[in-house]
Amino acid sequence: MSVTKQLIVGVDVGGSKINAVLADPDGNIEARSLKDTLAHEGPDAVIGRIIEAISQLISGADVAGIGIGVAGAHDTQRGVITSSPNLPGWHNTPLCDIIQREFNLPTYLQNDCTLAALGEHRFGAGVDVDNLVYVGLGTGIGGGIIADGQVYTGTSGAGGEIGHMIIDVNGPPCKCGSSGCWETYASGTAVAREAVRQMEAGVPTAIRRYAGGDVNKVTAQTVFQAAQDGDYIAHELISRTAYYLGVGLVNLVNIFNPELILIGGGLAKMGSLLLDPAIEVVRERAFEISAKAVRIELAQLGDDVGALGAVALVLQKKCGTDEGE
Ligand SMILES: [Zn+2]
Repeated sequence: MSVTKQLIVGVDVGGSKINAVLADPDGNIEARSLKDTLAHEGPDAVIGRIIEAISQLISGADVAGIGIGVAGAHDTQRGVITSSPNLPGWHNTPLCDIIQREFNLPTYLQNDCTLAALGEHRFGAGVDVDNLVYVGLGTGIGGGIIADGQVYTGTSGAGGEIGHMIIDVNGPPCKCGSSGCWETYASGTAVAREAVRQMEAGVPTAIRRYAGGDVNKVTAQTVFQAAQDGDYIAHELISRTAYYLGVGLVNLVNIFNPELILIGGGLAKMGSLLLDPAIEVVRERAFEISAKAVRIELAQLGDDVGALGAVALVLQKKCGTDEGE
């Protein structure tokens, strides 16, 4: 009884916020510490804030372990962050060891979108679903894969980079070094880039007003606002994004034949405006048997998906050693 009452710390280290939660094994959040990441201050300062957030949560609590999610490439076997698009200056940073030594608690690290898949699988829209893909649509596109009920991350732990499947070999350059990757067509960055292109070509659009006349302030959010306001160009831009979202989803459906694809991240807030046309593309172009089998829905856990996924990671790891709790 006392063991099942143990709590778990889940930390989501994002580019702008550190969201740390203290939760029970059912995913109920009992306490939270939210801090600005201030990533430009470098690894030492950010790690200091992570430690501070965890300290605030665990004082007086019976804690079973700590899970941490960070965007980017990790060596999860060694608990090392190889590099992260959100965290400048982090190279081969042994975050797991540092946290484990600080608190003397079992600590686990995983890619944030893999954790999002795990979080939805354990506590959200994907409970009882053995085959699911989580698609995180933000400034880039991240992915998490649950296959046969298990997290799938490949041989080196670097799998699930669905945002870098190539949609057009002659497409726009991608920050990964390749070109024509899915995220160069269907991410928030892609929406903003195309909107700026239209504005610079002198096309009249309300996006200009929502961005205060400044092309540097154009985001997917300003395009969405203009679209809701009935702006034709903004609507066209979102339709184009939805089409390419659908093209990538067709590939995922054909490769994985999943039961469920969950769409999360900032762009998911566009809801059916983005999702319905994308689902239409899947119905038209994916293998019929797989297209019929898949549900494509919005993720449920919102801004806590990464932190709750980190909680789920600790529960999963502990199950291997503490069978029956
Ligand atoms: Zn790429």
